[in-house]
Amino acid sequence: MVRCRGMAKKIVTIVGARPQFIKAFALSRAFVQAPDFDEILVHTGQHFDDNMSAVFFSELAITPPRYHFTLRGKSHGAMTAQMLEEIENVLAAERPDAVVVYGDTNSTLAGALAASKLGVALIHIEAGLRSFNRRMPEEINRVVTDHLSDVLFCPTQAAVANLAREGITRNVYPVGDLMYDAMRIATPIAERTSSILDDLRLTPGKYGVATIHRAQNTDDPAMLARLLDYIAAEAARQPIVFPLHPRTLAAANRAGLDPGRAGIRVIAPVGYLDMCRLLHHAALVLTDSGGVQKEAYFHRVPCVTLRDETEWTETVESGWNRLWHTAQFNPRREIADYGDGHSAARIVDTLRTTLDMPAGTPAS
Ligand code: UDP
Repeated sequence: MVRCRGMAKKIVTIVGARPQFIKAFALSRAFVQAPDFDEILVHTGQHFDDNMSAVFFSELAITPPRYHFTLRGKSHGAMTAQMLEEIENVLAAERPDAVVVYGDTNSTLAGALAASKLGVALIHIEAGLRSFNRRMPEEINRVVTDHLSDVLFCPTQAAVANLAREGITRNVYPVGDLMYDAMRIATPIAERTSSILDDLRLTPGKYGVATIHRAQNTDDPAMLARLLDYIAAEAARQPIVFPLHPRTLAAANRAGLDPGRAGIRVIAPVGYLDMCRLLHHAALVLTDSGGVQKEAYFHRVPCVTLRDETEWTETVESGWNRLWHTAQFNPRREIADYGDGHSAARIVDTLRTTLDMPAGTPAS
């Protein structure tokens, strides 16, 4: 295929955190196959451990980032400020037609601010999600990014409705969920190549998977202790595999808490293929992760969300997920959202027409 560089639309995609590498895996494949797009990946360095970053690029064969920052600041403000400055330099040098940001991290916010201040069209993928809890840093990042965006791709109808309530109705496209695309591509590969069940001596259908990483859960030692007790209670019934996020490990160490009680297999964070295989054969998922809640449903595994609210309300309404403080699941049904595994193609098709609008055209 001849790439017609002169006429191709140049896209700068900002990634920095684990779930964004997985979403980029699904969308970057579609950009590579589209001769009329030229994508440049920028890695902000927000996640930097090999098992939180490099593993995804190597095992999923994601095109390596052209720019990769090393962050010095640790606080939200310092981190976001440095990313903002560096992304602005990249945009000034590359002069792209559009910037793509994913989800709700500080990298998302920095990319959104840099693009919109320079008048570059801003595309938000996974737009419209709301927890309605402004104490979550992710909620602030989502709200600001959505209101700055020129084109908004929503995974669910609830997300479209959330945007409409905030007056954002232009250039809003429900396209399904890129993580569903990623899961459908990766699971057959994981089934052939991952040895994680044997390595951990797990019997399919007879174990659970737990993850915790949200600041609301890790930063308060009393809350973290309650969550670890909750997981330990489930581990009395079946083994629980617990890939420990670096933030959670650090918080547990600071608070003098031991995440590895009886029945809990604490392991380092795993790559996406191992995670797909673990989830695919699990009997139960316990998580505070947005992505993992959905993935539990993609693999048709019941999930308990270790939070007091969720952005993925359809998973609860449909009986596949419940919040940890509620006693039982709703009656179970299939979920109509999340698409058919072809969100990436739909996003690329939509961008072909929408990017002909003037950059900086507000969506709201
Ligand atoms: N994940 C992974 N390895 C792990 C834990 C999670 O590959 O050890 C994947 C998981 O399958 C999902 C994504 O990371 O695709 C979710 O990321 P995370 O929970 O960090 O963020 P969130 O979805 O809450 O934004």
